[in-house]
Amino acid sequence: MARIVMKFGGTSVGDVDRIRNVARRVKAEVDAGNEVAVVVSAMSGETNRLVGFCDSMTNMYDAREYDAVVATGEQVTIGLLAIALQDIGVEARSWMGWQIPIHTDEAHGKARILSIDTTVLEQRLASGQVAVVAGFQGLGPNNRVTTLGRGGSDTSAVALAAALKADRCDIYTDVDGVYTTDPRIVPKARKLDRITYEEMLEQASLGAKVLQTRSVEMAMKHRVRVRVLSSFSDAPGTLVCDEDEIVEKELVSGIAYSRDEAKITLVKVSDRPGVAARIFGPLSDANINVDMIVQNVSEDGHSTDLTFTLPRSDLARALKVLEGARDDINYRELTTSSAVVKVSVIGVGMRSHAGVAQTMFRALSEKGINIHVISTSEIKVSVLIAEEYMELAVRALHSAYGLDAA
Ligand code: ADP
Ligand code: ASP
Ligand code: MG
Repeated sequence: MARIVMKFGGTSVGDVDRIRNVARRVKAEVDAGNEVAVVVSAMSGETNRLVGFCDSMTNMYDAREYDAVVATGEQVTIGLLAIALQDIGVEARSWMGWQIPIHTDEAHGKARILSIDTTVLEQRLASGQVAVVAGFQGLGPNNRVTTLGRGGSDTSAVALAAALKADRCDIYTDVDGVYTTDPRIVPKARKLDRITYEEMLEQASLGAKVLQTRSVEMAMKHRVRVRVLSSFSDAPGTLVCDEDEIVEKELVSGIAYSRDEAKITLVKVSDRPGVAARIFGPLSDANINVDMIVQNVSEDGHSTDLTFTLPRSDLARALKVLEGARDDINYRELTTSSAVVKVSVIGVGMRSHAGVAQTMFRALSEKGINIHVISTSEIKVSVLIAEEYMELAVRALHSAYGLDAA
């Protein structure tokens, strides 16, 4: 007997028939003698619809009320799945985040899970009942409902698996595993049997939305065995695991892209000690995460142009902050662009092999794609390019690193 957390994403619970399909999959695990907790997302499109209501109400809303609205999507699916399970003879009960409770911090809209009280769930599981838990939701310190950021049900599932000391956390989605790149962009993408926690973490944080970044961080920290698999087929899926569990390591295991990028350039900032702190200090105070940074000394030798990237959704706020600090920073001009994307190549093999970046630059130049900004870390190289070249770049890199399926 094993204890399993199964998570089903929006497409997998997209309508009543699909919820019945999920119930059958859950029943199969129960019939095999396992203890099962299920985490579900809202029906596909539902969270977008709810976010849309908030956006159309006003452009500066209270994040506590945003959470009150968007958390409702998951309430519907837990109830429906519990009904579907009961209908096929499986004892089941639904749980909202606050009922467990899943305690989070008070960062409404992007809350972090702090702890999960598993007392009641443990009792229910031991008595043979399936617990159907709403993903995405938590309970803040102020006793209000919080949500975990888009894609947060993955994190709910992994956190629950860690808290329940589950043997596995199976993430069921609309693709049958983690691929070398988004299979919707590159038809020749290959499914990986295994991927390391570290590579999965980079994939997620660099844009592959198949798992939320925090879910991978949590899996890595608590050593949760995560599998990504399809709710529509019986293919074996992808196991996220330690590096030493992978025999054939590839130099590059994946290409990721992110459209959620914007670029800001401060033109002619005076080049003196402390200037970077004066720019990035106020941005960090405003909770804006700056990503790639380049600084060029201008021709006059006294001033510098500074370019950096940030999430597209934070651009308007960042502009406000920088305009507010204009006198202190002292720049001549500020230019921005949202028509940019970040494309990254990822692989643990990079640690021990030179030339990975060079292959990337050559492949992009052969397609005439200009690179705006470059950043590297131990196991990835990222470039910022014009939005219109995104698909071309991902495909070219996928071929250049020999990742195309035969
Ligand atoms: P769910 O609703 O089940 O949480 P998501 O839409 O959040 O599903 O994530 C699954 C999607 O992630 C896939 O449909 C696919 O388009 C996208 N994706 C991006 N990169 C990858 C990748 N490397 N491997 C698999 N899927 C990927
Ligand atoms: N329903 C939420 C979203 O669409 C959480 C999730 O699906 O993971 O972002
Ligand atoms: Mg998701």
